[in-house]
Amino acid sequence: MGDCIFCKIVNGEIPSSKVYETAKVLAFDDINPMAPVHVIIIPKEHIPTLLDVTSEKMDVLEAMVSAAQEVAKIKGIDEKGFRTVINCNKEGGQIIFHLHVHVLGGEKLKDELN
Ligand code: 5GP
Ligand code: ZN
Repeated sequence: MGDCIFCKIVNGEIPSSKVYETAKVLAFDDINPMAPVHVIIIPKEHIPTLLDVTSEKMDVLEAMVSAAQEVAKIKGIDEKGFRTVINCNKEGGQIIFHLHVHVLGGEKLKDELN
């Protein structure tokens, strides 16, 4: 997808601080962290939003959940706890239209939704 920032990260056109990678997903530190740990997990395939995860693509969500578990362990926040967030479309706060999970932690997170 020509203009997609996250596709450019997948193909190396834009550098990122890689945390974890498999054949299906890539995880990297958020450029503008909202918590001491803030990692973005993306499918390597361009999928715009959560609404585009059709039944044939559910394996992507499985890979993203598995990656979130690994990222939490790598960052040492698995036992203390962390938050996973998927923003969808404008009112959900989605800015980058390439599906992604935020993994946030490293401190007691506030309970506000945004
Ligand atoms: P959204 O609001 O779409 O759910 O979240 C997009 C996230 O991507 C934001 O937290 C933003 O800081 C992050 N982001 C945007 N551009 C880049 C980039 O070029 N590199 C990295 N590492 N993160 C980015
Ligand atoms: Zn993309």
